[in-house]
Amino acid sequence: MSEHWNRRMFLATAGGVGITGVMAGGALAAGSSPGEAGVPPLTARAATTSGTAAAPSAPGAYVLPALSYDYSALDGAISPEILHLHHDKHHAAYVTGANTTLEKLAAARAANNFDALVGLEKTLAFNLSGHVLHSIFWMNLSPKGGGRPTGVLADAINQSFGSFDTFATQLTTATTGVQGSGWGMLAYDPMSRRLLVEQVYDHHGNVGLCTIPLLAFDAWEHAYYLQYKNVRADYVKKLWDIVNWDDVAHRYVSARKWNFPH
Ligand code: MN
Repeated sequence: MSEHWNRRMFLATAGGVGITGVMAGGALAAGSSPGEAGVPPLTARAATTSGTAAAPSAPGAYVLPALSYDYSALDGAISPEILHLHHDKHHAAYVTGANTTLEKLAAARAANNFDALVGLEKTLAFNLSGHVLHSIFWMNLSPKGGGRPTGVLADAINQSFGSFDTFATQLTTATTGVQGSGWGMLAYDPMSRRLLVEQVYDHHGNVGLCTIPLLAFDAWEHAYYLQYKNVRADYVKKLWDIVNWDDVAHRYVSARKWNFPH
């Protein structure tokens, strides 16, 4: 980790993506300390992390994480065809795009030619954010999901939104109402230490800079159109049935440990 706590690295660490399983397990285990009511054991999560990337002190390329369930596992809400294409093609393209952009940036530095820097920075933000959000999205979902959160996450939702139902209405509305492509997202804001619903444009717009994604609902047409056609609201309604609240709670507990200096 560099001298400055990097937001995106934090997200990657919290999600166990693109880093070693050891580091991911360690970061996740930090959220399971005694007294964190409602947070289940972490054994299953640590086992789902993949990749043999370089040590944290030597950052490597981004890696497409394997799904922890079969393509047919979410069939009630997301068809196998969509899940296959979404993960293996769309998400993979963001991983490739981020890595390719890093290579181009390295070449620009080596040549001391930054003529294309504006475009490269925009491309990096788009692809890296796409990789981050999809990595979270897959872990936010489970064939055994649904229901409601309990424990500290439920308390935080009540404090920030008044009730779970009010929160759910806000996130549903944010997701179904995205103009064009984007996401509805539950995020933790370390400055106010509260939860927010954000409506993300593309993968990286319309968000507070330090907010940390906890639960992301993909509202891009590639996420639902083959199954739901133009009725995005029906897809979002089904998403609630497969939310992995254990995963969301772990992300909340991890995010809350960041004492943002200000
Ligand atoms: Mn997507």
